[in-house]
Amino acid sequence: MPRLPYFRTADSENTTLSAKIQAIKGMNDFLPEHTVLWQKLEQLLRRLTAAYGYSEIRTPIVEKTALFKRSIGEVTDIVEKEMYTWKDINDDSLTLRPEGTASCVRAGIEQGILYNQQQKLWYMGPMFRREKPQKGRYRQFHQLGVEAFGFAGPDVDVEQILLTWRLWKELGFADRVELHINSLGQAESRAKHREVLVEYFEQNIDKLDEDSKRRLTSNPLRILDSKNPEMQSLIEEAPKLVDYLDDESQQHFDGLRARLDAAGLPYTVNHRLVRGLDYYNRTVFEWITNDLGAQGTICGGGRYDGLVSQLGAQDTPACGFAMGLERIIALLENKPFAEQLQGQADVYLITMGEDAEIKATVLAEALRSQTPSLRLMTNLGGGNYKKQFKKADRSGARIALILGEDEIQQQTIGVKFLREQRDQLTMKQEELSDFLDGYLASTTE
Ligand code: ATP
Ligand code: MG
Repeated sequence: MPRLPYFRTADSENTTLSAKIQAIKGMNDFLPEHTVLWQKLEQLLRRLTAAYGYSEIRTPIVEKTALFKRSIGEVTDIVEKEMYTWKDINDDSLTLRPEGTASCVRAGIEQGILYNQQQKLWYMGPMFRREKPQKGRYRQFHQLGVEAFGFAGPDVDVEQILLTWRLWKELGFADRVELHINSLGQAESRAKHREVLVEYFEQNIDKLDEDSKRRLTSNPLRILDSKNPEMQSLIEEAPKLVDYLDDESQQHFDGLRARLDAAGLPYTVNHRLVRGLDYYNRTVFEWITNDLGAQGTICGGGRYDGLVSQLGAQDTPACGFAMGLERIIALLENKPFAEQLQGQADVYLITMGEDAEIKATVLAEALRSQTPSLRLMTNLGGGNYKKQFKKADRSGARIALILGEDEIQQQTIGVKFLREQRDQLTMKQEELSDFLDGYLASTTE
């Protein structure tokens, strides 16, 4: 079993000259014992996005700062205080991407793949935010993002939500997560709501914290997103956006709900759900769990119909989500998904004597050519049988192959079963490849 929590947390930022250099706080190492699980998750994500007809897009990790300011919004946590931004030598302001949607839209416009087209895209990779590191909150973290362009109706919103639901089911924790949805309406409905919201908060100005006071004039909707426990009852009583929704957004939201109902997916309509980024309109959703403490949102998304035109191209409806993979991995602890992990090798080749070592190299190469999917580890660096069997056991292999002097003379090979009670076999070397194919096929899920 891999060691939890599936990556090694960096815990110190300060180094003196003589001390060892350590990783940056909030940026983690992923060791081989952790990456097996990450790879398995990534494989599943590739399979699921393909199953819904989404294709991969890769964009640079660094973009011009203006891209994020203009899309995410000046008065958001990310842009105000979380971005890694610096001046390049030519004075350009550059930023490590804090999320993927802005880059995806920028690339889509620049490469001309959005204009009068429909696109369904996904990406996966590291994002960077200068937050206070804690469990489930890191400065370099990983997201899967899924974005659809050119689809206006709620059908695509539901498709994306169903994709995530399928993922939770496959990972075995669908019973521990909850779907929250809301509609933010169109700009006009938000403007009407904004007026009454500002009025309400002004009447209660003494109950607002500093952040919220600042946002009262710049971005009052964001106050609803506040995590400050002392403001929760005030927020609870605040005027609700849903009461100001325009007719079309109401219909869109009804369409979304009808489809979720038909799919049998339960959800909560959460009037306070506004999301932390400015570009959203109409549908917003989050998947939330109680099992991760304060960092309970594992996936968030929604519609951003205005973003493509805001970034300078033709109006294009769009919808997407991003999920935090560290939080997904954290939810997997002790789940069957994690228990099914294989070790590093299927087969471990043990040799005795220099002659056998040389022959083993040739045999191993032949086996790898015959069965490309075979995970074969050859013993390196000699050692007696006991030591080699120990290494074979640690590799996770189910079979040890033994090549000694007798075997070489008779052109045979010893086959020992490491994970089941079964007598050791000796067979002709030329029979080995077929035998391994059959054995591994019968014991792999
Ligand atoms: P939170 O409210 O937890 O700060 P957010 O609204 O800032 O989340 P998004 O920008 O919507 O998050 O990102 C989508 C997902 O990425 C989140 O739901 C979460 O799972 C993950 N995520 C965001 N920030 C971090 C972080 N600093 N470390 C790890 N995962 C993160
Ligand atoms: Mg955040």
